Amino acid sequence: MSAVLVVNSGSSSLKYQLIEMEGESVLASGLIERIGEQTGSVKHTVTAGGDDETFRTTEPVADHTAAFRVMIAAFEQHGPSLQENAPVVVGHRVVHGGKRFFEPTVVTDLVKINIEDLSDLAPLHNPANLDGITAAQKAFPNVPHVAVFDTAFHSTLSPAAFSYAIDAELAEKNRVRRYGFHGTSHKFVSEATAAFLGRPLGDLKTIVLHLGNGASACAVDGGRSVDTSMGLTPLEGLVMGTRSGDLDPAVLVHLHRKAGLGFDELDTLLNRRSGLLGLSGRGDMRDVVEAAGAGDDRAELALEVYLHRLKHYVGAYIAELGGVDAIVFTAGVGENSVVVRERSLAGLERLGISIDPERNASAERGARVISTDDSAVTVLVVPTNEELEIARQSLSVV
Ligand code: ADP
Repeated sequence: MSAVLVVNSGSSSLKYQLIEMEGESVLASGLIERIGEQTGSVKHTVTAGGDDETFRTTEPVADHTAAFRVMIAAFEQHGPSLQENAPVVVGHRVVHGGKRFFEPTVVTDLVKINIEDLSDLAPLHNPANLDGITAAQKAFPNVPHVAVFDTAFHSTLSPAAFSYAIDAELAEKNRVRRYGFHGTSHKFVSEATAAFLGRPLGDLKTIVLHLGNGASACAVDGGRSVDTSMGLTPLEGLVMGTRSGDLDPAVLVHLHRKAGLGFDELDTLLNRRSGLLGLSGRGDMRDVVEAAGAGDDRAELALEVYLHRLKHYVGAYIAELGGVDAIVFTAGVGENSVVVRERSLAGLERLGISIDPERNASAERGARVISTDDSAVTVLVVPTNEELEIARQSLSVV
C-alpha cells in the first residue's frame, strides 16, 4: 500500500492529509492552528470505513518543526499508524512558482533557494510554505518531498493573456506579469468534469469558477489554462471574502494622495478589508446571503457586486474560448450556495445557459449537473480536492 502525506503550511497553520493512493482514500487529516502563539489548537481526524472521528486539543506549538512533532504524536495516539501507512512521498502546496516551476518538483536545496527567491511575489505564502518544507524534511528525512505550485497550471497562458500593458522592460526586470493561482484546483476540477461527462478532456472548453474565501475563474481549453482571473498576486479578478479583486489602479494613487494611506495600509485595505467584508461588514458568503435575504441593503449590494463581477468573467471567457461546453462551480461558495449559482448565470439563456432550479437546489453532494436538459452549455457543481491532486502529482514524480 502506498500512502502520500500532503502538507499545506501557512504562516501560523499546518494542514495535512494522509491519503492511501490505491483507493485514493483519506486515512487521516488535520489542522494545527495558531502556531507561534501562546496556545495552539490541534485537530486530528481519523477516517475509518467512512466514519470520521475527530480529536481536538490545545497546546502551545512554537513553530513548524514543533507542529510536525504534534502531528506525529496525534498519529501515534489516535492512529492510523505511520509505520503501517508510511508515506512514500510528502507533497507540499507551494503558492508561487513564478516562471521557474511549471511541474511538480522534487525538493532539493536549490529548489528551496528558488522558492525563497520568489518570496517577494508572495510574501505571505512562500516563506511559510518553505518553513513547512524544512520542518517536514526533519520529520520525514528518508522520503522525497515534492513541491506542487498553485501557479503551475497557468504556465500555458499566452503572452496576450499574461502581460500587463505597462513598460515592458520594467515589468520584465521586476517579474511583473499575470501568474494565476488556484491552479491545482482548476486542473483537478476541469479533469474531473471531463471524466464525469465522459468526454475527452482535449475536446472540452470549460470555465471553472473556484469560489472559496479566495476566488478565481479559469478558462480551460482542452485541459490547458488559457486565462484566469488572478494575476501577479491572488488579489486580481473576482470579488472575494476580504479582497477587492479588480479595480482601477488609480484608486491606490488617489487614496494615497487624498486620504494619506501608505502602501502597507493600502495593501491591508485591499487584501483584508475589502470584498464582501468591505462592502457589507460581513466576509462570509453565508452571512451575506442571509443578511441580504433579511433586507440588509449593504449585504444585498455586496452580493450584487460579487455576482456582477462573476458574470462579467463568464462572458469574457466564453468570448475568449469561442464558446463553452461546461461551466463548473467549485469550492466553499461554489459547491454550497444555491443563490450564487442561480443568480450569477441568470438571464444567459441566449448564450445557451439555463439552470434547472430544482437540480440547483438539490442537497446532493458530489459532481452533478444543474443545467436543464436542453441547455446547450452544461452547468455543473464539481467538488474540488486540492489535496488529492497534490498527492497524485507528488506520486507521479517519484
Ligand atoms: P478557502 O478559500 O479558505 O479554501 P473554502 O473553499 O472552504 O475556502 O470556502 C469558504 C467559503 O465558502 C466561505 O466564505 C463560506 O462562507 C462559503 N460557504 C460555505 N458554505 C456555504 C453556503 N452554504 N452558502 C454560501 N457560502 C458558503
